[in-house]
Amino acid sequence: ESVRCLVRVVSHGSERYAVVFGVDDTEHMRVEATRRDFVANVSHELKTPVGAIGLLAEAMLESVDDPESVRHFGTRVVAEAVRMGNMVSELIALSRLQGGETQKFELVDVDELIADALDSATVSSEAAEIRLRADEPAGLVVRGDRMLLLTALNNLIVNAIAYSPPNTTVSVSRRITTVDGRPMVAIAVTDRGIGIAAADQQRVFERFFRVDKARSRLTGGTGLGLAIVKHVAANHGGNIGLWSKPGTGSTFTLSIPQELADDDWDETDHR
Ligand code: ADP
Repeated sequence: ESVRCLVRVVSHGSERYAVVFGVDDTEHMRVEATRRDFVANVSHELKTPVGAIGLLAEAMLESVDDPESVRHFGTRVVAEAVRMGNMVSELIALSRLQGGETQKFELVDVDELIADALDSATVSSEAAEIRLRADEPAGLVVRGDRMLLLTALNNLIVNAIAYSPPNTTVSVSRRITTVDGRPMVAIAVTDRGIGIAAADQQRVFERFFRVDKARSRLTGGTGLGLAIVKHVAANHGGNIGLWSKPGTGSTFTLSIPQELADDDWDETDHR
């Protein structure tokens, strides 16, 4: 708890009074601290790729006569720049989500959404020798921002691939669940990868939290992917669930309120 004291001296006739105000600053201080932490985190996270790009460029200049080295350092400069670019776009996405910027909500076909997400993951799954599988189309529809939902689903699939050994399967399934009597479409992304220890399962949704920083860097991770998924879920009146066991694998379940075809719900009830 934080209480700020203000003292004012007021005069009344020939008498002077000291008036003491107590101002409850707790919420204000908490918001300020979160903002400061965030800025410190962002600066720290961006310093790493910037530093790497500087060092790699120096190494490149020192080896201008050796085309092989130039190619080697050049490739790494590009990779770091891409990583930094990703981080900046993800930060922008996150700040839009947190600012509660009104999204473009429309009817979104869940089968199409999953098909598109799997399509864009094909190249990386082939490179990692991971099979992608989806169950039969189920004709489910949600109301939401298509781009945001696609980003969230992509993040889950990219992670499932990144944290799994070769020759395993990543599968995406969908079903209806009920939360507080309300039908939700639950999209589950399951991998047979390294899994997440119970102690870290809450924390993976925090900005910049990574179980293993070195590994996440290798996979080009920014530590923002799951924070974005969590905010997308919240913005849609849904939630994100996690089941995981180290050495066995993980299932992330993104649940979004179902859009019913008939008019069982009135318009304001959909979100
Ligand atoms: P990153 O860009 O590092 O992948 P995320 O926010 O997407 O950031 O994930 C945060 C951390 O959660 C990852 O660094 C990783 O340690 C862990 N993680 C995410 N998805 C998985 C998964 N499918 N299997 C195992 N660990 C995961």
